[in-house]
Amino acid sequence: MNRWIVAVVLTALSISALGFNINGAKWPGAKTHLYTSIPGTAASGLSWSQALRDAAQEWNEKTVFKFESRVDYRDPCVGYRNNPANSDFPAGDGDGINGADFTSDVCGNAYGLNVLAVTLVYTESNRLGALDITEADMVFNKGKAFDIYDGPASGASGTDFTRVALHELGHVMGMGHEDTRAAIMRPNIGSTFTLQADDIDGANKLYGGYSNCQVSTLSFGAVGGRLANGDCIVKELVGGGTDTSLADVYEFELLQSTSIVLNMQSSVLDSVLVLMDARSAVLVHAGEMGGSCHSQIRTTLPAGTYAVLANTFTYSPSPEFNSTCKNVGPYSLTMSYTNTEPLALGRPASLLGGTAAAGFFGGVTTDEGETFGNEVTSTQRFDVVGRIDIDPLHRNKAGFLVVAAVLDNGEILVKNLEGQFLPLGPQSSPVPIITAKVLGSSETIDVLSDIVASELGLRQINVRFLIGYGLSSQPNELYFHREPISLVVSP
Ligand SMILES: [Zn+2]
Repeated sequence: MNRWIVAVVLTALSISALGFNINGAKWPGAKTHLYTSIPGTAASGLSWSQALRDAAQEWNEKTVFKFESRVDYRDPCVGYRNNPANSDFPAGDGDGINGADFTSDVCGNAYGLNVLAVTLVYTESNRLGALDITEADMVFNKGKAFDIYDGPASGASGTDFTRVALHELGHVMGMGHEDTRAAIMRPNIGSTFTLQADDIDGANKLYGGYSNCQVSTLSFGAVGGRLANGDCIVKELVGGGTDTSLADVYEFELLQSTSIVLNMQSSVLDSVLVLMDARSAVLVHAGEMGGSCHSQIRTTLPAGTYAVLANTFTYSPSPEFNSTCKNVGPYSLTMSYTNTEPLALGRPASLLGGTAAAGFFGGVTTDEGETFGNEVTSTQRFDVVGRIDIDPLHRNKAGFLVVAAVLDNGEILVKNLEGQFLPLGPQSSPVPIITAKVLGSSETIDVLSDIVASELGLRQINVRFLIGYGLSSQPNELYFHREPISLVVSP
């Protein structure tokens, strides 16, 4: 759905709003381009182009939004024409390019009385029901006198262009008018000529994305959660819009390109999964599967930081689907992957706070290391393998290797010299040593070999493994990794 928003600066107009005013329409990725070359120079000797670039730079420096200034002229009115049916909006679809210029009319329609400038904002609905801005053009009224200066508004040679540009750029970003507090986004031009706290808060609220909500870290494997009233709602998350459905927010980081599967399962919660990039742009969106309350996303992502929303609908029960699925309740969220290499396991960590230039890798394989992942069925034969690239300073020294397993109930098991996993007990060293040896440049660790879960009487289990090493000269220090090796066994 397409919709026009017209945003204007008037010398006298009052629009009621409390605090900064945002309607949720925004640029995906918190950035856009801007053609900034406007012919001509102000009476003060400064060019209009430089003033516009300075205004864009002020938003860039003080908020999370980024204007990419392009030093070129583009006619803002390309693709628009007079609209006799509506005195506020010109007709047409624009050209997808953000231009700026002085014009004698609003791309075909007359400027209203006292109007200094107009920003034409073109929007389209996205999959979260909020509006994405896809084009914004700024026109400045050629019939008004402009100059460039700081300080009080009453310049003898005309209105200060820079503060009008700052205000119009706020509209380009999707900001509305602020009627009560000190702000460049006040509908009336005044002595304010720089961005105010309210402008900055508004822009950061609009573009702060999922940082507006509590964020949990998601690792490979399974976690349990619950959507309940009082949780974050999508409207807060996207900085506007009308979607009041509940959402838990998870963040994860991929250190390499990875094929992932996200499963949200519940017997009562109408599950919706939303995958976003670090700037809250929606990448994939999935609702129910086949009459169940579950949802699934299967995709390949480049290295980067991502967010997952464990989400639901605003209806209870969802009208078009299974009436047993509600919009509150518990769920489980499982993230699994497949890759041709074992995964890098995050940055190194240590027990005593020492630093090591070591690399940790690991994964579960059902095909002798052709591919790696973290999910197997209870009847599949699999190995869990790890590899440590030892810090160059620790190579060729006497050391030891360790393996630990963390169960869902928090119980920690450690592997002993005989290869058995036993509960962690009082030890002279931090954890039992599986191997004592002179450390090489790279150490391969067989965490589990040739296992079939059903043969051990296990049908469903979620385990996280940690591997690490230490030096015999410093037996209480242990170097390991932050992201565990995940193993999810499902029936
Ligand atoms: Zn305005």
